[in-house]
Amino acid sequence: MPIMTLTQITEHTYYMPGANNLGVIATGDGGAIAIDTGLDKDIARRFRKAIDEAGLTLRAIISTHHHADHIGGNDYLLRNVPDVRLHAPPLEATFIEYPLLEPTYLNYGASPIKPLQTRWLMAKGTPVNHLIGETEAIIAGQSFAYEIEGVTLEIIGLPGHSRVQIGVVYEGVCFAADGFFSESIIRKHGILYAHDIALQLATFDRLMQRSEAWYLPGHGDLTPASVIQAVLAANRAATEHATALVLAAVAQPGDTTAITARVLQAFEQEIAATETIPPAQTIPQYAIFAGAVVAHLSYLEQQGVVEVVLAERQLLWQRKGATG
Ligand SMILES: [Zn+2]
Repeated sequence: MPIMTLTQITEHTYYMPGANNLGVIATGDGGAIAIDTGLDKDIARRFRKAIDEAGLTLRAIISTHHHADHIGGNDYLLRNVPDVRLHAPPLEATFIEYPLLEPTYLNYGASPIKPLQTRWLMAKGTPVNHLIGETEAIIAGQSFAYEIEGVTLEIIGLPGHSRVQIGVVYEGVCFAADGFFSESIIRKHGILYAHDIALQLATFDRLMQRSEAWYLPGHGDLTPASVIQAVLAANRAATEHATALVLAAVAQPGDTTAITARVLQAFEQEIAATETIPPAQTIPQYAIFAGAVVAHLSYLEQQGVVEVVLAERQLLWQRKGATG
């Protein structure tokens, strides 16, 4: 017997563990639905082999959100496996079709600088064949049934990390994408990437209400029901801790670059090339970290704690009511 690359979770659910956990749902008649496809074509090639080994034929891909490390394998699989259909939530689909948008928003909306045009931030674009659900319902965290390849899945809105991110539920397994992170990932990154902190906190709470037996995050360990509450509590604590550190960093007014440097210092983090981080990854890592810092600043601004002022030719964040 060959050693299976896929790890079986329940009768019809599997995943390929890795830097990105890739989900598989067997349709029961030989077909397979992939949930995310990993960073690049090398991963996708391995994923395809793993699905073949399990005696399944890939028929559809669900992309949970547009980040390059989740959609990077789409192009390879759509090109190399016949008749595969790509499904994604609206808005995320736009970013999947125009991947230049991810490094663009990390570059103040301008045409992206070269260091941001890497495979970590920019996948190959592919057309999306089917939109899953409606933007506002997903942002509101609603769940709904979705028919695909002869099976009915439950889709749940898990917005926050990305604006219209979804999770997929089938047979007691919640494929949660980046709706939460393993404790090992939290320890490694300190600040969890987010687009909208209020939505992200609501997503942790929503996952706490679920009653599936298994929860598979995009990064980190498959999590059983017995520990999911503790893991979600750790996600919430990490997010609240990050908000507190960002607020502390605004004790003195500063622009985004200055505040980001203070928060990096508060986390005792250095973004520099190391044995595990090649030089080409440092600027993308910085851009993601700074993006997360701004998400916390925007959250504090929404709450009326922090405000933005234009002073001395700088756009400054400051405590509300402080004199600039
Ligand atoms: Zn992501």
